[in-house]
Amino acid sequence: MLPHAYKYSLQPVTDMAERKAKALDIFELLSSCPWGTRAQEHGQKRIRSYEVLGFERVPLLPCKGVVVKLEKPIGDVLPVLFLMNVGRCSYAPEENVLTLRRGGRLIALYPDGRVAIGRAWTEEAARRVMAELLDEINAAYEELAEHGPPSEEEVRRALRLSWRDLMAFLPGTNCGDCGQATCQAFAISVLNGLARLSECPHLRADGKKRDLAKRTLGSRLARLLGL
Ligand code: SF4
Repeated sequence: MLPHAYKYSLQPVTDMAERKAKALDIFELLSSCPWGTRAQEHGQKRIRSYEVLGFERVPLLPCKGVVVKLEKPIGDVLPVLFLMNVGRCSYAPEENVLTLRRGGRLIALYPDGRVAIGRAWTEEAARRVMAELLDEINAAYEELAEHGPPSEEEVRRALRLSWRDLMAFLPGTNCGDCGQATCQAFAISVLNGLARLSECPHLRADGKKRDLAKRTLGSRLARLLGL
């Protein structure tokens, strides 16, 4: 399907100089953000550019969108990106395909470097999505470089994770000190990426609960969720 992608492109990117200029735009944008700068300092920025293959029906999603191809395969970092987005994505470990939800869009990432962005009607919209996505991918490469690939057990545990697992070590007093009405609402916010576990002061202050959290989640997932 992909070789015919240009046929469906609304604004095909056909000129090599233009492609390089677009890639440079993205690189400059990344360099101006904290994650990008950190990754660059560590020499671990891995993905700097991509090629817009064109607009077409997104392989996994029942809507039109844009398909891009990153400059390199990303299979090694997808399990890490999954852990970093646990609760806000779907991950198929057998195929190593990750689907993120971003601003009402579904974005499917494939190990060979293809990225399918649903509900992106213009190249400009796709470029905005890609600017943030490259940032996240390179942050995941930084995590991979510092902490290594996740084990199968870590991935399995993350696939099973629900807000009920977090309730096992939250105090359960519904005190509201975290800004949420209940511990359950807080747990759901954590899994939606809207809160960090450390924002519960009572969990933070209770060494036994923190240890239980690390045993329940595993130390990497506990850290990624803010403990
Ligand atoms: S601060 Fe902690 S104990 Fe209080 S409601 Fe929030 S999660 Fe529950």
